[in-house]
Amino acid sequence: FLPFLDSTFGATGDFGKASDSSATIKDSTTNATKKAALKSFSQDRLPQTLLGKNIITIFFENSTRTLSSFECAIKNLGGAVTRLDVSRSSTTKGETISDTAANLNAMSPDAIIIRHQSSGAPVHLKKSVSCPIINGGDGAHAHPTQALLDLLTLKQCFGENLEGKKIGIVGDIKSSRVANSNIELLSRYGVDLTLIAPPHFLGNHNLKSTHNLKEALQDLDAIISLRTQTERHSKQNYGSLKDYAHDFCLTRNLIGDKDIVIMHPGPVHHNIDIEDELLKDSRCKVLKQVRNGVAVRMAVMEFFIL
Ligand code: ASP
Repeated sequence: FLPFLDSTFGATGDFGKASDSSATIKDSTTNATKKAALKSFSQDRLPQTLLGKNIITIFFENSTRTLSSFECAIKNLGGAVTRLDVSRSSTTKGETISDTAANLNAMSPDAIIIRHQSSGAPVHLKKSVSCPIINGGDGAHAHPTQALLDLLTLKQCFGENLEGKKIGIVGDIKSSRVANSNIELLSRYGVDLTLIAPPHFLGNHNLKSTHNLKEALQDLDAIISLRTQTERHSKQNYGSLKDYAHDFCLTRNLIGDKDIVIMHPGPVHHNIDIEDELLKDSRCKVLKQVRNGVAVRMAVMEFFIL
């Protein structure tokens, strides 16, 4: 779906630096046709494979990228979205999530996309519904579509074969569903992973790990930075975020002119996860990840519904 997205929406910023097929499409598109494409966005330029399908989104945890990009993805393919506003739903009256899901299922949606603060919630709800349940992030457990869009971004940067690529994940790995899903998916592609974190953020993974970011960076082809998931900490067993940033923030100083791909799932804590200056650097692929999220979620919706 990337060529469709590029020729339909045009692209700016680090999007333009991709070494993927979409770059070719963009380069060969004149300004006039770009303008026309922007004007006439859409439906008739994209396969309307989800026409007549209705998908329900229920997000019990806040979201910017995942919710919007799922909804854009569905609409791009002609589908309809019904978003349950959890704060105004009967969950506030004590309805269980199984009952909520069973009731929504009775309305015959083609899929339900859920985000929940409890690990395992989507699997648990499978018993209550007959349609596909798609995981938009469950507790500290998994965020499968984030891992898929990260994989796509890495493939665009390095080519199809990621075998042996050295990729670091730095930050609050223990509480991060993004880290879990990336560890699972990238390992399947033969990526050489290094986890970089203070001991209390490391978690139980059977992988190389270090707390020396500077040293680890020397060897890496890409680094994925993560937000500190304070909402999942029962107690603060570390100093301030400023102390954390002192050792684990990605800065221009640390990175220098190294050829490296910098990624982050968002939301970014400025100057704690990544220094502001570096966010503007062409090596930083944060917005490219976001754009890829729409294409990946279009593919995911087709996979589950068609
Ligand atoms: N947006 C990602 C998630 O939902 C990462 C984060 O919140 O830090 O897990």
